[in-house]
Amino acid sequence: MTEPVWKPAPNAREQIDAARSLFRETYGSEPWAVFSAPGRVNLIGEHVDYNGGTVVPLALPHRTYVAVAPREDRRVRVASAEEPGDPVITNPDDVAPGRVHGWTSYVFGVPWAMAHESLGSGANGVEIPGADLAICSSVPLGAGLSSSAALECSVAVAFDALASREDADRPLLASSDEGRARLATACILAENEIAGASTGGMDQSISLRAQEGSVLTIDCRDFSSRPLQIDVASAGLSLLVIDTRAPHRLVDGQYAKRREGCDSAARALDVPTLRDALDEAPTEDDVQRLLREWDAAVESGAQDIPAGHTEASMRGLVRHVWTEVLRTQKCVGLFSDAEPPAGDPAWASLGEILNGSHDSLRDDYRVSSPELDAAVDAARAAGALGARMTGGGFGGSAIALVRREHMEAVASAVADAFADAGFGPPEFLEALPSGAARRDV
Ligand code: ADP
Ligand code: MG
Repeated sequence: MTEPVWKPAPNAREQIDAARSLFRETYGSEPWAVFSAPGRVNLIGEHVDYNGGTVVPLALPHRTYVAVAPREDRRVRVASAEEPGDPVITNPDDVAPGRVHGWTSYVFGVPWAMAHESLGSGANGVEIPGADLAICSSVPLGAGLSSSAALECSVAVAFDALASREDADRPLLASSDEGRARLATACILAENEIAGASTGGMDQSISLRAQEGSVLTIDCRDFSSRPLQIDVASAGLSLLVIDTRAPHRLVDGQYAKRREGCDSAARALDVPTLRDALDEAPTEDDVQRLLREWDAAVESGAQDIPAGHTEASMRGLVRHVWTEVLRTQKCVGLFSDAEPPAGDPAWASLGEILNGSHDSLRDDYRVSSPELDAAVDAARAAGALGARMTGGGFGGSAIALVRREHMEAVASAVADAFADAGFGPPEFLEALPSGAARRDV
């Protein structure tokens, strides 16, 4: 038997102290304040964010902390415990698309985007001030748990507070959900334009707008969000996260290819996004009818198949998006209508929904990987109610809904399966719905 490796969420106090110590060691002075923002895991609604669908993420207890002090000038200097070395400094005028590379682009992009969105200016027209930053994180980097958004969002709430510190009349954006949505827009802009990653916006929205104890439903057409009680713990269950620790393979071009395929299908259907081809509350029959119509249009040659795609791959993209919209709608319905706590049938249905999502991502959308499939298969075989890959795919993490008393056994079974297949050891953590980006001290 292989002993599973757990990554418990470290104590907040220790993390705050670690960020402050790094600040002191790096800059030789005390920070003014410490801020943090969570990583996330998406329960259901995968690869639907850029297709106008609804996603259902929750914030992890694992967070990125940033200790901060204002500077006299407008420059930004940053050090990270996860990227050891001398601090990196930049002038805001040197930050522009294509001009910052590597991990600091996720940091420097945020004040750039906040300035771009006029989020710094208050009554006195204050610009985004300069700052020294020291970062440390317990969100695994590159595991599909959104360390990138945790970093951007912790930096965003820090600059929000710095701007209000300079101008007492400027309201803190972080003090309202509407303001937080605006900060999320800036973080999305930073990730898209400065870090050069074309992510859809779920990660920044949950990191800034999560509510402790709830998952969040986010309608990606307008980013309106609503907390939803899916109280896994009260039902004696756990949401186990399996970080495969597999390197992201084939990522270059693969997301873009799927996105282009979906955009092309939406154009062919004359709708803004694939989700718009469905009614507000579609049924299984509606989806089947639309798929038949799609097939008929393809057969008659009325539908162009874009370069790099086949009739079968395009059908798979369309079918995944529409069936995932149905699964997400079903999940939200299960827990919106139920008097909490939800009963066993609701949890069994959620398990089936997770399984259906994985199978669709593997067979129709084709973004799974051998490690993700192994994790999901082993978790299901060891008694999970359901399991699926989560996040973009091609590596990263999977989730499994398990009875609390089975959590160790499921983790061991996955660790065994990885050892048998010759994969490196995975890591495990428990997803407990946590709070949004905040000031800690
Ligand atoms: P994910 O968001 O799933 O973790 P990404 O590839 O989107 O994966 O983002 C990971 C990248 O974000 C890292 O390679 C690094 O450049 C940057 N990053 C995230 N957290 C930190 C951190 N604490 N310190 C330095 N860089 C970080
Ligand atoms: Mg990311």
